[in-house]
Amino acid sequence: MSTKILPEQETTPRTSHGDGDHERFAHYADKHKITESMVTGTPIRALCGKVWVPSRDPKKYPVCPECKEIYEGLPPGGGEGDDKQ
Ligand SMILES: [Zn+2]
Repeated sequence: MSTKILPEQETTPRTSHGDGDHERFAHYADKHKITESMVTGTPIRALCGKVWVPSRDPKKYPVCPECKEIYEGLPPGGGEGDDKQ
């Protein structure tokens, strides 16, 4: 009765390559700030509190679950409060 133990390479924790997990999500943030950030490349703060640089192609990434939850919890139309010019 011997149990064969196979080398489990998959148990090795995968470390990111310096990109950070938040870069794999599309976060919600102020539209104006996103636009500005895409021009300047300056990181901005998302709804979930993460500071990241928005991707030019957010549809490539899944929506950040935290941001989505916060976004859906916001009262409709009450998030910005600057619709009057
Ligand atoms: Zn987020």
